[in-house]
Amino acid sequence: MSFDFIHFDELDPKRCERKYKKSLRKAVLSRYQGQCLYCGAIVDKPTLDHVIPKSKGGTHSENNLINACQQCNVQKSDESWLTWYQSKPFYCEDRLSVIQEWIV
Ligand SMILES: [Zn+2]
Repeated sequence: MSFDFIHFDELDPKRCERKYKKSLRKAVLSRYQGQCLYCGAIVDKPTLDHVIPKSKGGTHSENNLINACQQCNVQKSDESWLTWYQSKPFYCEDRLSVIQEWIV
C-alpha cells in the first residue's frame, strides 16, 4: 500500500494550514516590511493576498502570496489581479514588476 498520494494537509487541513500560513506569513511579510505591494501603503497589519485567487486555481505557495493592506485584499477579491491593479489610481509599474517577479 502506498501513501504517496496522501498529503498531510488533507488529513488535518485546519491545523496544517495554520502552521503553514504562519511560517509563510513570516517569510513574505519580512521582505516588504508591512508595505502593501499593490498600493504601497505601509500598514500595521498587512494581510497575505492570494495573487491568483484560490477559486481560480491559485495555491497557498509563497509565490502566490504577497503583502496587501486589508483594503486592497478585500477590493481585489476574485478579480484578475492584473486587470484590477491596472485599473487603480495607485497603479505603479515598479510595484507591478516586483509582483510579477515574486509570482514567477
Ligand atoms: Zn493596499
